[in-house]
Amino acid sequence: MKHHALTRLNTFYGVFVMSGRKTSLEKETRTVAKTKNKRYISHPASMTKEVTSVTTPEFEEHLSSLLAAIENQEACTWCGRPSDEVLIDLSTRLCKRCQRWNREEIASLQWQQNNPDLKRKERGVPYELAIQFAQLCREEGQFQSWKGPVTNCQLEDELETLTERLLGERDKLVDTRIIFAQFSDAQRRLLMYLLRRTNLRWIQHRRLDFARDRTRKEFL
Ligand SMILES: [Zn+2]
Repeated sequence: MKHHALTRLNTFYGVFVMSGRKTSLEKETRTVAKTKNKRYISHPASMTKEVTSVTTPEFEEHLSSLLAAIENQEACTWCGRPSDEVLIDLSTRLCKRCQRWNREEIASLQWQQNNPDLKRKERGVPYELAIQFAQLCREEGQFQSWKGPVTNCQLEDELETLTERLLGERDKLVDTRIIFAQFSDAQRRLLMYLLRRTNLRWIQHRRLDFARDRTRKEFL
């Protein structure tokens, strides 16, 4: 069974503070008061007060059209990658890679059915791996949370997931919920779409590693 060689993530999704907003936030200073061993940080008044996102009805309309266009774009029914990234087969609605793993999965399930005694033996590993790989491809297409309303909390979680993948550990970023509150509903959805897409790309580069882990667990 052939596998695509894994390529390593070589790009980073940078800091995504709204342009124009970043400068004003950077200028603000925080008052840090020390009491014994604890440090209390008081947020600038502009960050804690009720905020209204910076937008216009025209821009919101434009964003809604953009999100609808993204949502309606042809995409692989397994991994969810859009047609401007991958070629989608018109009959199966799958990209080439998912088509291949669909075939591998069918053949592997057939092999397991024909060889029940070998299923959990060493000879069964490649077939189980193919089944797990196909399952991963299908799961990727289910990460579609940006299609509905997106909360500040969801954005924060998505960003922390990304930092965990970049830094190797979950790193709590301060004030992200407050910053996300500066965005309108449509802006939050677009932001979630970008973060999700980046996180998905990270997963896609490591499909084989994940499939191996799952296969190993199946054999434990
Ligand atoms: Zn696909």
